[in-house]
Order: sequence, then structure tokens, then C-alpha cells
Amino acid sequence: MSESIAPRQPAPALGPDSTFQFVCHADLPCFTQCCRDVNIYLTPYDVLRLRRTLKIGSEEFLNRYTRHFLAKTTHVPVVQYALDPETLRCRFVSDRGCTVYPDRPWACRLYPLDLAEGGPERYRIMVNPDRCLGLLEANRMTVGEWLEHQGIAPYAAMEQAYYAVMPAGFKRGQWLDPGIGKLLFLAYDLDRVALLLQDRTVRRLYDLNEAQVAQLAGDDEALLRFAFRYIRSQLEQLLGDPS
Ligand code: SF4
Ligand code: SF4
Repeated sequence: MSESIAPRQPAPALGPDSTFQFVCHADLPCFTQCCRDVNIYLTPYDVLRLRRTLKIGSEEFLNRYTRHFLAKTTHVPVVQYALDPETLRCRFVSDRGCTVYPDRPWACRLYPLDLAEGGPERYRIMVNPDRCLGLLEANRMTVGEWLEHQGIAPYAAMEQAYYAVMPAGFKRGQWLDPGIGKLLFLAYDLDRVALLLQDRTVRRLYDLNEAQVAQLAGDDEALLRFAFRYIRSQLEQLLGDPS
């Protein structure tokens, strides 16, 4: 007897008050398997946190640990982990877990959740319980509690600041001029932003005195916010005021 197969409906998105059950621990057979053969896209703030904990510059980090390019059709900057080519494992995973855990990227913090379509603060469970056995553990919590536990707030705030510098009306997946893509890439490479601050013209244009430049040089988060300001003002010159 033939059976009609209805298309599978996507699970409804979760909001901050939705609950799900999950806990991850080293006794699970899947432990660290999620750090293998995976696409992990990094944000500018992820790069800042990782290269700081590794005590290397942004350029060295980008060259040693990532693949970075402008997306072929949209020209949006893409920075993703370069996995170990032989094992396909993240270069920061060990048998005991993540070696950069306090500074792990946003995507790793969210896991097993991911952002969902349909507006801000919408999430979905991105993996099946047969792969991520922690989803079968009896520990129920709200999405909001999970995000707080994972220290998501500064990552979300920096990403919001990054998207605020984009051209007016920009949406994920939208086409950008390649020159704008290169300009946006500056947010990932704070070594280059620090070099810009050595330029007298830049200091004058952004009204920065010696003390402010010294403060930016010693405060990565402030330097990233300056990078956003710089990018936005350059975009304003190219495109007119995006606000
Ligand atoms: S697959 Fe899920 S439960 Fe297993 S280690 Fe990864 S996050 Fe934890
Ligand atoms: S950064 Fe840490 S949590 Fe993320 S994939 Fe690598 S080892 Fe896993």
C-alpha cells in the first residue's frame, strides 16, 4: 500500500521563555564530537576574544586559525575556523574538551541552539538528540537561562553594534559592493585598526588626543567599538548617512 508523505514541518522557533532539556558533560559518548567536521563562523568579537586569550595579534590569528574571504556573491566578509585538515577537528579541542572554553566563540556558546528565522531572540535546536546526547539528559531550563549561563550578552551586544554600521536596510545574505566588504573586514583585524591610529590625519579626523589613543591601544573592546565608528563614517562618505 502506498503512503503519502507530508513534508516535514520545521519545529517552531524558541523564544527566551521556551524550555528545552540539555546538559553536556564529559561522560557522554558524544563528548567533543560536536567540535569535529563543523562550520563555525566567527564574529569580530569572537576573533577579539580568541586572539587575546592566545596572546597573538589579529593578523596572526586570522592567518593561522581561520579561512577568511569575501563571500562570492554577496561580498560579505566571512571568517570561519580552519579545521585540522587530517582529523577535521577544531584546533582548540582536546580529549578533555575545549582548551579556549572561557573565550569560545558565540556559536559554540549557543550550541545546541542556533539563531532561527523570524526576528531577534528566535532560536532553534540545530541538532538531533541522536547526535547530541545531552539533549536526552533530564535537565530542563529556559532558553534565556541557557543564554545567561553561556555568557552570551557581550557577544550579542557587539554583534548588534557591528550590524548597526552596515548600510541602511542591510539584511543577512544581501549583496554588498566588494569595497564595502573589505571595509567591514577591518572589524575582524584590529591590528590594522591599531595601525590606523598611528596616522595623524586619522587622529585629527576622529578628534583623538594622545591619552585617548593610548586608552584605545590598551582596551580591545574600545578599539573594536572605534573600528565600528571608523567603518560607519567611511560608509557614510561612500554612501551618504546610513541612519
Ligand atoms: S554533542 Fe552535545 S552533548 Fe555531546 S559534547 Fe557536544 S554539546 Fe555536549
Ligand atoms: S572553540 Fe572549543 S567549543 Fe568551539 S569547536 Fe573549538 S573546541 Fe569546540
